[in-house]
Amino acid sequence: MIYTDTRDSSVKTDFRTAVVKGMNEKTGGLYIPLSFPKLDSKFLNRNSEPSFREIALEMAKPYVEGEIPEADLQSIIQDAYPFPAKVNPIDKTSYVLELFHGPTCAFKDFGARFMARVMSYFNRNESTPLHILVATSGDTGSAVGSAFHNVPGLDVTILYPDGKISPLQEKQLSTFDGNVRALKIKGTFDDCQKLVKTAFTDNELREKLRLSSANSINISRLLPQSFYYMYSSLIVKNRSWRDNKIENPSIIVIVPSGNFGNLTSGLIAKEMGAPIRGFVAATNENRTIPDWIATGEYNARPSVATYANAMDVGAPSNFERINAMYSLEEVRKMFASYWLDDDGILDSIKNCYEKTGYTIDPHGAVAWKAWADIKNGEMAKLLNGQKNDITKSGLTPNIPEWATEIITNNALGIILETAHPAKFGSIVESATHSAPQIPDRLEKIMKLQDRSIPMENDYNKFKEWLLANL
Ligand SMILES: *Cc1c(COP(=O)(O)O)cnc(C)c1O
Repeated sequence: MIYTDTRDSSVKTDFRTAVVKGMNEKTGGLYIPLSFPKLDSKFLNRNSEPSFREIALEMAKPYVEGEIPEADLQSIIQDAYPFPAKVNPIDKTSYVLELFHGPTCAFKDFGARFMARVMSYFNRNESTPLHILVATSGDTGSAVGSAFHNVPGLDVTILYPDGKISPLQEKQLSTFDGNVRALKIKGTFDDCQKLVKTAFTDNELREKLRLSSANSINISRLLPQSFYYMYSSLIVKNRSWRDNKIENPSIIVIVPSGNFGNLTSGLIAKEMGAPIRGFVAATNENRTIPDWIATGEYNARPSVATYANAMDVGAPSNFERINAMYSLEEVRKMFASYWLDDDGILDSIKNCYEKTGYTIDPHGAVAWKAWADIKNGEMAKLLNGQKNDITKSGLTPNIPEWATEIITNNALGIILETAHPAKFGSIVESATHSAPQIPDRLEKIMKLQDRSIPMENDYNKFKEWLLANL
């Protein structure tokens, strides 16, 4: 596969370069594949749906062709995904896709584990390790730390702001041993990011250490997230007659979004032939993308803190990819868009629990409420000419092509549940008055010893430490 750049279509490079570099420093653009090959229709139309790993292998093949042989790709996938993605029906027209069965209980495990193994593969003939530096405001650090832990040839240093992440998040990234360590920086997330960025531009340091990053703009994190869109849409298509007496449903995927990496992965799956009719771009108060879809103007802004804090992004980095792949008109045909404030999030957790018995986390709650509103008359109102105010929580005014399918009851929703509710236990409990059960793997982490290393917010001290300890 040839990869190009969102800012310069004359750029042509291979998968390895796109993965190792992360982004194109020369243009500031992001790498995207030149094409998204459709899977064979025989594969897509099998009567019994393929397994998650079969789908992963078929989908990944074209993107690594000529660079990773099929047998090696197969081992990468086997090793990356010992856990499932689970499709759960919660009412007559809604399924929840649980993406939290990985080690850190959030969907980022799907992307980070694939990326780690691909990087390790590309580093296999080197005599020195590749050093990954990652700044985190919470969730990314744990997914990356866990994904790279004990992966050969790789070494990870996580920087996080001291006292500014939740105790559980801190445990999830500070308790690794071996090739993964965490520095707690006396400063903010922005300070952590600045230290990492300065290290990348420090030639003296780069002569001594081979450095790389692992952030969410890396194409090797996006591609694997498309696997579960294909998987869940094939399952829902196959079982919809049995479950709902709908022969040929219009499948809508509702995606709680921050940086819009997850949603971009959904677009890749659709291009590759997943039976998905459309998407709902659902955000918290950080409504940069819903505003863009409604008004046509893209205005990045500072982020606002919310209960769904992994989606607190005011300048979503994958806007750049969506904008390179589609025109605004095409986006408006495919997407409904929706945003929800914090009161709405609490209300949604409560309503979902009362109406369906399902305990949903604050991120999934944004998606659940979007879908509930769409089904319960809000889409019909838009079709009848109501003009929604974009400064208020709810659907933004654009009408996607699939809107009439809602009225004819031919649509089924797949709600992406991106984190386990126990990761946000106190918020969930305040809404449902019942504490979510804590999975064993989280309980274990809470008992581990904190190994984080305190560090001043000072580049020279940071550099000295790297040189002395890596
Ligand atoms: C990162 C994250 C999101 C947002 O995903 P994007 O790909 O950044 O849009 C949503 N929910 C949870 C729990 C996350 O960790």
